[in-house]
Amino acid sequence: MSRLLNGREIAKKMKAELHAELQALDAVPQLRILSFDTPSSQVYWQAQQSAAQSLGIGIVPSTPGAAHASHAQSWDKITQSRVEEILQEWNQDVMVHGIFVHQPMPKQIDAQRISALIDPKKDIEGIHPQNCARRFFSKARIGSCTALAIMRLIEETGVALEGKEAVVVGHSEIVGRPVGMLLLDKLATTTICHIGTNKAGLLEAHVRRADILVAALGQPQFIKGEWIKTDSIVIDVGINVVGGRVVGDIEFEAAKERAAYITPVPGGVGPVTVMMVMKNTIEAFKLQQG
Ligand code: NAD
Repeated sequence: MSRLLNGREIAKKMKAELHAELQALDAVPQLRILSFDTPSSQVYWQAQQSAAQSLGIGIVPSTPGAAHASHAQSWDKITQSRVEEILQEWNQDVMVHGIFVHQPMPKQIDAQRISALIDPKKDIEGIHPQNCARRFFSKARIGSCTALAIMRLIEETGVALEGKEAVVVGHSEIVGRPVGMLLLDKLATTTICHIGTNKAGLLEAHVRRADILVAALGQPQFIKGEWIKTDSIVIDVGINVVGGRVVGDIEFEAAKERAAYITPVPGGVGPVTVMMVMKNTIEAFKLQQG
């Protein structure tokens, strides 16, 4: 029977830490978010807005079409030039300290070009090539909010990672790859699995030997409880809606009988990620103040 890694509790703790930091700074960092009119983007936007407001971080409210529109761009209609125009405005505005673009971006948008356009000092998700390179050399001050949230959850267990077998399932640019690098920084022996691993019939074998398992594949309860190594740390990043209910990528009930620590879905990685967006905004503010 495992201990629950309660993301809501950890987010509360982080909020107190960030609140103290903001008071010491005596400043109001400003965050701008480009979101889309899709259900998942809307849910994320609301959580980010409420966290920012509760901390006193500036966030532009819902004003579609306005010069600083930070909310609910049409998924179908938004164009590359409009996204670039919004980002250039935010890049040039010295009062804006952090920029966050919701992922995935619509198909008509060239996501790589957008990543390279964000001022690297304002890049809250660490997607600009300069920030990716900094992460590669273990020198990132701001970076993937989800990956940092996963590391914070693992840190809460107090378990030392050096020499442990870490298995990440998913190799996306905003979750799997960055968390793989952060685990390497801690000297965990890190394997990144993906769709190819599954097609080769090797996923179960990798998961079975994981002391630390990070599941970020976006497939409801795909990882079976019986694959979980006894006394492991299990982080479920997945957010899948099944029959109106949100479930993760792991069979939670069975997995919790075997793991030492496990994150619930919802209430695990999600709330910590939102707070990490706020932490990165403060870091970006400090970076810009020199
Ligand atoms: P993505 O679609 O960009 O990448 C999915 C990855 O999983 C790919 O590497 C793919 O190869 C792999 N994959 C897919 N099916 C697989 C299978 N059957 N076996 C093995 N590997 C498989 O997804 P993403 O953006 O990294 O998000 C992953 C999940 O995490 C989604 O459910 C997403 O909603 C969730 N998410 C949660 C948070 C949070 O804060 N909680 C943040 C970001 C993403």
